[in-house]
Formats: sequence, C-alpha cells, structure tokens
Amino acid sequence: MPIRELPTLLINQIAAGEVIERPASVVKELVENSLDAGATRIDVAIEDGGHQLIRVSDDGRGIPSDELPLALAPHATSKLERAEQLQAVDTLGFRGEALASVASVSRLRLSSRTPGDEAAHVIEASGPDQSPPAPTGGAPGTIVEVRDLFFNTPARRKFLRAAPTEFGHVNDAVTRLAMMHPNVGFTLTNNGRKTLDLAPADRGADRCIDLLGKDLAEGLLEFEHRDTPTPDPQSPIPTAIWGLAGLPSIARGTTKHLYLAVNGRAVKDRNLIHAVKEAYRGLIPPDRHPLAVVFITMDPRRVDVNVHPAKAEVRFRNPSSIHGLVLSAVRARLIGADLTPSVGFRVSGSGPREERPGDYTLGDASPEPDTRNPEPNAFVDYFRKMDPTQKGFVYEEVKREMAEADEAPIPAAQPALTSDITHQTSHILQVHNSYVVTEDDDGLLIVDQHALHERVMFETLRDRVLGEGKPLESQRLLMPEIVDASPSRVALLGSLKPLLERIGIEAEPIGPGKVAIHAFPSFLFSRNVEAGPFLTELLDKAEEEDLRPGDATAEEAALHEVLDMMACKAAVKAGDRLSPDELSALLAKRGEIERSSNCPHGRPTTLRLTIKDLEKQFGRT
Ligand code: ADP
Ligand code: MG
Repeated sequence: MPIRELPTLLINQIAAGEVIERPASVVKELVENSLDAGATRIDVAIEDGGHQLIRVSDDGRGIPSDELPLALAPHATSKLERAEQLQAVDTLGFRGEALASVASVSRLRLSSRTPGDEAAHVIEASGPDQSPPAPTGGAPGTIVEVRDLFFNTPARRKFLRAAPTEFGHVNDAVTRLAMMHPNVGFTLTNNGRKTLDLAPADRGADRCIDLLGKDLAEGLLEFEHRDTPTPDPQSPIPTAIWGLAGLPSIARGTTKHLYLAVNGRAVKDRNLIHAVKEAYRGLIPPDRHPLAVVFITMDPRRVDVNVHPAKAEVRFRNPSSIHGLVLSAVRARLIGADLTPSVGFRVSGSGPREERPGDYTLGDASPEPDTRNPEPNAFVDYFRKMDPTQKGFVYEEVKREMAEADEAPIPAAQPALTSDITHQTSHILQVHNSYVVTEDDDGLLIVDQHALHERVMFETLRDRVLGEGKPLESQRLLMPEIVDASPSRVALLGSLKPLLERIGIEAEPIGPGKVAIHAFPSFLFSRNVEAGPFLTELLDKAEEEDLRPGDATAEEAALHEVLDMMACKAAVKAGDRLSPDELSALLAKRGEIERSSNCPHGRPTTLRLTIKDLEKQFGRT
C-alpha cells in the first residue's frame, strides 16, 4: 500500500481514541472549555448515562460566529499562540483537539453567543458533514450538545457500560472539577433529575464538604502550606498546597477518594499518591487509603502538562521537592490533631443513629473487618513467657526510656475539628488486663494497652534516632552471634548497613552464607531479645517488603518498619496486669507523644465515648 495522507475525519477519530474514552471524558473536556471561557455557572445534563445526550451550557465569553467552524477544526485553539507558551500553560485546554475529536465520533451541536453579539449562532457536525453557522436563540455563553456518542465507531461503543456506571463516572468527573473551582456554580442533571446543585462558594472547604457530604465535615482537617519563594528569578511563583486530610478512621479501601490536582487540573500521579500515603504511615493500616483533598498551585513552568492526551498526568520538573512538600504539609496537620475516633452504640429499636465520620459502632454492624487481633509474631511470645518480676523490670526500663525522651520538644496541638486531649485524671481502670478505661473532658476513653504502648515505644525510639540524630545505645557481644543467610540476604544486609548502625546493630558477613552480629541495641538486650532471631526476622521483613533504602523517603520507611518491630517487642501485651503507676505512666504519655491515636500499624489505640453519646443513649436529651 502506498503512503497516503489520512482524511481529516479519520485523523480526528484516531485522536478521539486517546482523548474520548467514555461520556465522562466528553464532560471533562467540555467543562474545562467552559472554565477556560471564564464561566461563572456551568450546567451539565446527561441522558441515558451519556449514550444519548451530553449537554454542557455555560455563561462564559462565547465564540464569535465566524470562528464556530474553527472551534471544531483539529489543532485549532485560541489558547496558544507561540511555542514558548507551551512551557507555561495556564489554561486547562491547549491542544485544540477536544471538540474536533468529539465531533468526529458523535452528532455535535455547538451554539454560542459572545456578550457583544445580538444573537447566538449554531453549527452542527455529524461525521464528515458540517453545517454553516446559522442564527439561533440563546443567552450569552456556549451550549454544546453531544448525541449518539460513538455512533460511527462501533468498537468504542461496545465498551460503554450500563447507564448508571457511566453516570457514576460523569458524576466523579464533575465532582473533581467542581471541587477545584469553588467560585463557579455547577449543576448536574441525570435523565431530567438534578443530582448536583452547587452555588458558588467562597471557601474551597465549603465546596468540598458540599460534595463529600456534610456528615464528613467533622472528619476533615483543613491544611495549607506555602513554600518560601525561591530566589530563582526564572521561577518566582512559590508552590502552595491546600487541602483537607481525612481522619484515619475514615480511610477507604481504594485511592478513589484521594482528590489530587495541580493548577486546577485533576491528576493521577503515583508520586503524589505516595506522598499522601506516606503522611498517613502508621496512622492507617497499609491496605487502607486516606480520604484527602490535595490541591497544588505552582509556577506553570515547573510542571509539564503536555505529557498525556487527556491531560490526566503531569510531569514535575522537581518531583522529589513536590513529594516532600505534600508529605510534610499533610503530616504536620495530622500530627497536630487529636485523631481519636468516637464510638457510638446502636440500640435495637432506637432507629438509625446519626452516623458520624470516624465513628466505630459497638455491636454487630461493624463494616470493618476485625483487624484488632495482634498479628502472629514470633517475638510476641517471648514477653508472655517472662515471669512477672522480669516484666516489672522491663516496665521500669520502659519508663526510664520514656522519661529520657521527655526532653524532646512536643509540638503544640493544633485545634482540630475534634477536641484535643486536655484532661488527665486519676480514674483509671484496667479491664481484663488488656484495656484501660479513663475519662477526659469529652467523656470516656477506652485504650488498647498494647497498641498505645507500642506507639509510645515507637515514638520514643524514633525521637531518639531521628530527633537526636544519635544511634541507639548498643552493647558489644563477647562472642559474635553467627546466623545463616543466603547470598541475596548477605547483599541485602550490605544495603541495610547504615540503617542497622543507626539502631545499634553491627553485623557483617563472614564467609559464604554466614553473618556475624558483633553489637546489639542495649534496649533490646535488657528485654531478653535474642540477636540472631531478631536479625533473621528483620531480614525476612526487609526482603518481603523490599526495604531497600534508596532515597530519603525509602530510608525513612525502612527505619519505620524496623523501629516498629522493636517497639512491638518491647510493648506490654494484652493480658499483662499493670500496676496503677504503670497505668498512669502509660496514659500520661498518650497526651505527649505524636500520633498517639493509632499504633504503628495504623490501628486505633483509643476510642472515645462522649458524654453526649451517653446522654443520648440513656434518653436524657
Ligand atoms: P482547546 O480547549 O484545547 O483550545 P477545544 O477543541 O476544546 O480545544 O476547543 C477549541 C476552541 O473552541 C477553544 O480554544 C475555544 O476558543 C473554543 N471554545 C470551546 N468551548 C468553548 C466554550 N465553552 N466557550 C468559549 N469558547 C470555547
Ligand atoms: Mg478544550
């Protein structure tokens, strides 16, 4: 076959293959055009999941009648003039191919009126045919109607899902766009029924809460972070991050509830998702995902938006600095807040109680799988086997460690949407040698003694290693302890060496398949933890979870895992009887350490039952 130039329709259909996947992609492109046109209200209507009709109307600046045919032409745009502008795109569109693509795979009607025009004008396109602009009625602004999507591309049409599924995607697209543009009014209508009606909002948080649901408001922590302006004259605009961080207790099963945007553009970016997840490390279990909104505004020259046809991905000039900013902004907010979830109970016959975010329900209706069993762990047993005097000694040791960590400055608690820990009390009750019940200003606190103690140990160790920057105290072994290790593990040991040194382990390969441990943390020694099995377990974990310190974040993640292992070994267990002094020492720590609401695996350490809840349950209100 000789080489031929493709007909325009085919070119457009090929482009449509990349840009227009389903009705939601049409909605996204059309709404982005309305936003670029400066609209203050945008109405989206779809019928039959968008198979039949997608209509987007706006009150933006409109298109002059003589430019209407151009708007549907491929590679025609009013948003770019010169090549340099591609280095700093400040509009949502710039490729000039959305309308041409949509028109090539549907029956499209575009009517528009600029504020100066007497009347609106309309053109229609269907496959290769296009009508000339003709006058029509209509207010200033633009209306795009798309019917019979994919009527001439049956392969694509086959991939369309049932109407409710497609509507779900449309709703998601509109939700994301509306979150990012709170000052624009939006409506969404499905088969004639209005499903979203959003008045322009002054505050981004109000718009997000409108969309996420009012009952989530209590579970969201607003944060803002502004980078100090760089002295770089090429890039004077500082990066700013604004968002809402969901409490750990409203974490979800998928990353769908993570709303990420860069300069008003929703993005999927693994680097950013990772940064947010890192900020929640130790606050939610590894298989859960935070519900959070993270919007970044930055110098458009520092981010390339021209890397994906549907513009869903971006490329940062300096991804690690963005990662660091997001991580620290979200983490700082979480650390400053009281993340203790409330419990409520459901009494049969009392009707559905008003569900609050972050609530745990006592009783049978818990939607969460039971994750509260302590993980099976080789070292869990060692403490159980200890005799009580030994345990007492361990506890003294722990208290001493805690007291030493006291010098470390504790950041002042920021006001959270839930109240902060203010009250310490002498009413303390240990229940079944496993739970500790006490009170605070809001009501009753129920503490899982192992989980809380594990967190206390973890933070103490972490402060020591990271805060003071000193390795943990270690003790030299009179005789090195020899353990077996495969060649790959010996190599792994090599890459973990700096990390091991920080926690006070000195270990070296000696001959094939053997490793010698020369020094071991005194802290673990005093708890009768054996060096050999500990190192073997640590290597197991490192291999399993690929804890190979590469960059700073990976290094911190690896350190977290190792400290977590140590904390878990040192902490009191469920079933351990604690003296009144030990109980109050443990509870006192709760108000002082960071992230006391969750154990290092992300499970809650504390549940709260408020007086309000009690009054409700006893029929006093
Ligand atoms: P792009 O958005 O990349 O420029 P499109 O194909 O989406 O490409 O749109 C082509 C042109 O049509 C835009 O550059 C703009 O000038 C005009 N246009 C499209 N939709 C609207 C609208 N809702 N209001 C005003 N102008 C619009
Ligand atoms: Mg566009």
